[in-house]
Amino acid sequence: MIDTYRHKGMRRKLIEELRAMGISAIDVLDAFDQVPRHFFLDSSFTNQAYSNMAFQIGEGQTISHPYTVAFQTQLLNLNKGQRILEIGTGSGFQTAILCALGARVVSIERQRNLYISAKSKIAQLGYVPNLFFGDGYKGKASYAPYDSILVTCGAPFIPEDLKNQLKVGGRLVIPIGEGDKQIMTRLTKINEEEWKTETFGDFSFVPMLTKTAK
Ligand code: SAH
Repeated sequence: MIDTYRHKGMRRKLIEELRAMGISAIDVLDAFDQVPRHFFLDSSFTNQAYSNMAFQIGEGQTISHPYTVAFQTQLLNLNKGQRILEIGTGSGFQTAILCALGARVVSIERQRNLYISAKSKIAQLGYVPNLFFGDGYKGKASYAPYDSILVTCGAPFIPEDLKNQLKVGGRLVIPIGEGDKQIMTRLTKINEEEWKTETFGDFSFVPMLTKTAK
């Protein structure tokens, strides 16, 4: 991976843009400084890698807009050493951001090719999350409970397994809805029965699919 001063300069500009758009968490902005987004994209996109755009990553999937990644990460409010479950590894960029923040990350991807490519890229950057090929609706009970769970695809409903795998006090950040738009939602587990629900406006994600692909 080649990370030049030019790339670093482009990252700084992106961080200023994210700050202007309302991302204020310093640790999140620092993580964007550390992770080379161009590394997660096809080389033909390198020049646009630090613009606030989504790109195709193969298998009909996209890497989320940097703003969306930053916004979701900020909603998690995470601390170093916390255990985080991510649904939808995709390119692996968001996974790397969580690792850069010092979280212990478990991430699940349903497309085998994306899982393989993300695994190799993240390893080359020196991060050590636990990555799985599988169905995110089921979560990953063997690593539960989680301090936070982050869903990076549009969920038609809130999967019960994810709620069960969250610690009391933990947060589930999930874009809910089918079609073109989802409502960014944060659920906080008050106790085993009670949840606090907050919403943060419309976003657009690829759908969370039910069947595990090849
Ligand atoms: N966090 C990613 C976003 C990728 S888009 C990034 O930064 O690049 C969302 C991803 O969710 C896609 O790769 C898609 O294949 C995956 N996905 C969709 N349904 C899923 C499911 N049920 N379980 C796990 N991953 C799923």
